[in-house]
Amino acid sequence: MYNKVTPQIREELSKIVGRENLITDPERMLDYSHDEFSLREIGHMPDVVVKPQNTEEVSSVLKLASREHIPVTPRGGATGLCGGCVPARGGIVLSLEKMNRVIEVDQDNQMAVAEAGVNLGDFIKSVEEAGLSFPPHPGEESAMIGGLIATNAGGSRAVKYGVIRNYIRGLEIVMPRGQIIHLGGKLMKSSTGYNLLQLFIGSEGTLGVVTRAVIQLLPSFVLTRSLVIPFADLDSAIETVPLLIKRKILPMAVEFVEQDVLAIAEAFLKKRWPCREGKTHLLIILDAPSEEEMDRLCQVVAEVCQEKGAIDIFIAETQKRQEEVLEIRSKIYEAIKAQTIEILDIAVPRAEIARHVKKVQEVSRKYGIWLPTFGHAADGNVHTHIMKARLEEGRMIPLEEKEWRPKFEKVREELYEDCRERGGVVSGEHGIGLVKKPYLSYVLDKTQIDLMRGIKKVFDPDNILNPGKIFD
Ligand SMILES: Cc1cc2nc3c(=O)[nH]c(=O)nc-3n(C[C@H](O)[C@H](O)[C@H](O)COP(=O)(O)OP(=O)(O)OC[C@H]3O[C@@H](n4cnc5c(N)ncnc54)[C@H](O)[C@@H]3O)c2cc1C
Repeated sequence: MYNKVTPQIREELSKIVGRENLITDPERMLDYSHDEFSLREIGHMPDVVVKPQNTEEVSSVLKLASREHIPVTPRGGATGLCGGCVPARGGIVLSLEKMNRVIEVDQDNQMAVAEAGVNLGDFIKSVEEAGLSFPPHPGEESAMIGGLIATNAGGSRAVKYGVIRNYIRGLEIVMPRGQIIHLGGKLMKSSTGYNLLQLFIGSEGTLGVVTRAVIQLLPSFVLTRSLVIPFADLDSAIETVPLLIKRKILPMAVEFVEQDVLAIAEAFLKKRWPCREGKTHLLIILDAPSEEEMDRLCQVVAEVCQEKGAIDIFIAETQKRQEEVLEIRSKIYEAIKAQTIEILDIAVPRAEIARHVKKVQEVSRKYGIWLPTFGHAADGNVHTHIMKARLEEGRMIPLEEKEWRPKFEKVREELYEDCRERGGVVSGEHGIGLVKKPYLSYVLDKTQIDLMRGIKKVFDPDNILNPGKIFD
């Protein structure tokens, strides 16, 4: 049992962060009761929202919360898709939004130092202005550095450039009882004891609050080119990926998407995708250091795709054409959002994608629910959208709640079961949060979950930091 935030504690919090950085008005707090997961029934109101402006204030808030046994939920951009920043047990929402400075872009070490509340869009801008790049590109630019680290976010470039974990070199963390620790630094290597830094990455705000990070950067991309390649069926499209890798082509991204989803996105966005033929399209993005090398890569990709029966090959060369294609791909979410219940992010071994997607299609037919599926063909991370709609002659037909509600749980169970059988995991990049908690045991055995519980106890003995997330 936790204690509530009393008027006296509110007063103390206001002394720490300043009255203007404290929210108690229920209407304004409503925004802090949920993330991007669509079903608001998992939301929960906090007692109070605080917006500290520096690490010392975060530490003072946590000291107070631990003394009074009040839960604290760290919050970044709230773009999470599994209820991770929902204050499930009430208490304090600790929003990092005011700690939004890029402190340094260090050219000599090719590293940036940023506060947790810098959003991805602003971070990329600062890095690019300095002539460098931050290659992983999770899809939502209002996500914040702290949230990206806490979920170990991925994105479509993971196959070549890895995920957030691969870029974090140092962290400043405030522990649940308020101690401030510094892990790593501007270092490329460390074999100095247990790697606590990596443990915080992906811990979903349950072990400590990220306040600052040292982030590895790379030289900026010289040339990129996007290819859209329609295939008659899913198998041929997916089977192309290992063939590319065998020919020593590692694209920056390989996305697969079905024609029916693209048609709906085109109509919603009033933009045209380069082609309408075929059933499954691959979007392959290449990067290269010179025009000659780019031409060679495109040539090999074209040969491999033709071997697998590609219907056509469209190359977007100009910046403008590439941006148009990428915009449609990245905004599919908006086109179907109103009817989406949940976006799954199952990850299976690359060679299992086609079989997993076939299972998705079978489950879709069985329950009469549209399950549009697209995602990262080269890294096995598949985004099946569970819809409250069915698809009829290319149109989304909304279902009544009494129709979709009982099927929703069954669809999830069947898909997670299939994921387990294929050696997959229930989350490739979004995390477990509240929503996937019941399914953690589908893919992790009891010993592993017990070890995690033990780690949580050591880091957060009072269980005040984001309680009720990942596992109970
Ligand atoms: C349109 C769209 C596209 C997306 N595309 C991708 C994608 O390509 N790849 C991907 O991986 N995800 C994607 N996501 C999901 C989401 O953007 C990521 O999970 C992101 O990392 C969440 O960051 P956030 O700042 O919004 O975190 P929040 O949603 O605020 O919080 C997420 C978790 O992190 C914790 N947390 C937040 N800040 C801190 C902190 N400072 N210290 C400790 N814990 C903290 C929270 O408690 C919570 O558990 C997408 C979401 C949307 C809506």
